[in-house]
Amino acid sequence: MTIDHRLAALAHLYRVYDQFCDSLDNLACRKFCADCCSRNVTMTTLEGVYLLQGLDAAQQAACLAALRQGADQIVFRPRYTTNQIAALCRDGHDAPEDDLVHGGSRCSLLTAAACSLYGLRPFGCRCMVSRQPCATKGYADVDDWVLTVNTVFLQTIEHIDRPGCFGNMQDVLQALGRDDWQAAYRDGRPSTEATRLITNQPAPVLMVPPVHQAKMKPILAEIQQGLRFVS
Ligand code: SF4
Ligand code: SF4
Repeated sequence: MTIDHRLAALAHLYRVYDQFCDSLDNLACRKFCADCCSRNVTMTTLEGVYLLQGLDAAQQAACLAALRQGADQIVFRPRYTTNQIAALCRDGHDAPEDDLVHGGSRCSLLTAAACSLYGLRPFGCRCMVSRQPCATKGYADVDDWVLTVNTVFLQTIEHIDRPGCFGNMQDVLQALGRDDWQAAYRDGRPSTEATRLITNQPAPVLMVPPVHQAKMKPILAEIQQGLRFVS
């Protein structure tokens, strides 16, 4: 499976998810509403390649330079991938507590309250939606159905990006910004050493609660369409 096949599958998944969000009529999300844009965003390496490939050389350099600024600030760095958590749940364990620190800094790619690379943003940004402006409650108000759909997309994106890695956006993009590291990733031998990234895992089971299984079927069928690129 080449990286181009995986990128085609990812583009399909983004399209399907964006259509799903367009179908939701109860979202408060609007352009220039950006309280959710923090440096805590996570992404996979495949999404990092998708993002960087959409930029020319000068834009890539500007993006990496923006992320380097304030790179010493505290940000969320996941200890588990979504599929690792799914495997723990499948085996009867509780999902690990999200007890890691989330920093309060704004995303460095935010300019004048709009994302500087909106069409290329990772799934972690796309799936950040809320029924009320986040400023009202101080957090996003996401219903259980949307959380289920988000989890299935996160699992699928991780699944198709193997062997690849997962981590905070700034760590993923800085790793991919190194030519030697990106070449190793494209060759299917990325190393997590000195990157603060963790390794993607296959989806052991899709985490869809019984109450959402029937409603999920048409979305799963559309996801499956995208997986034809990588099967
Ligand atoms: S998730 Fe919250 S802050 Fe972000 S656009 Fe939606 S309502 Fe605004
Ligand atoms: S990448 Fe864009 S959408 Fe995502 S947090 Fe940063 S500014 Fe917001």
